Amino acid sequence: MTSQIKTDLDIDYRLVFLGPPGSGKGTQARLLASRFGMKHISTGAILRGEIDAGTCLGIEAKKYIENGQLVPDHLVRSLAENAIKSEDCKGFILDGYPRTIQQALWLCEFMDAEAESLTAVINLTISNEDVVSRLSQRRINSCTGENFHLSNKPPPQEQSKFIVIRSDDQPDAIRQRLKIYHELTHPLVEYYSKKKLLIAVDALGSFGAVNSEICRVLNFPG
Ligand code: ADP
Repeated sequence: MTSQIKTDLDIDYRLVFLGPPGSGKGTQARLLASRFGMKHISTGAILRGEIDAGTCLGIEAKKYIENGQLVPDHLVRSLAENAIKSEDCKGFILDGYPRTIQQALWLCEFMDAEAESLTAVINLTISNEDVVSRLSQRRINSCTGENFHLSNKPPPQEQSKFIVIRSDDQPDAIRQRLKIYHELTHPLVEYYSKKKLLIAVDALGSFGAVNSEICRVLNFPG
């Protein structure tokens, strides 16, 4: 993602966005990255791209994603590392990676090898009930990947033919993703907290309020 507004900020921030599905990681990461010239790296979006392109990885990943499961760690590792290594990547926001302790250990190893470190981990907090209510109203533009919400951020009429419900936003898959999040991803909260990198942000407010709060805690202009 390219920068639209150049600021005098350090654009080399290396951020991780954590939070359950539906916490708004993708929407907030996309906006922040484009405003401040960081690269938005969503492993979910990369995997959906692989599925659309019909690659071997995509065919393998699809089985897991549609059932609300995590794609096995070894399949996502190189996707994330290659995206970070790419030339256009100075600062970045990792959205959806790491998602397991194993992935976090690999990320740490990878950053050490690059003589880099994470700047901060933003943990977007939200209850299970609010997740279910949000995801059942989520829609996505199948071409651009932009997320919408039927009440809070309705998709523009002119995009209607591209607007779809993600296959993993079906009720059974949502419940499964939440269960997996609590079992496998939530332990990262403690992991990053011990490393003194974790900053919690309440994800329940309006889109703009959450965005301002993230900017505030990172000392970005709101
Ligand atoms: P959400 O945060 O709403 O679950 P994402 O687009 O981040 O949406 O991810 C969609 C799906 O892609 C996940 O449910 C999972 O199956 C898969 N996925 C994305 N990132 C990872 C990852 N780091 N490790 C394993 N699976 C992943």
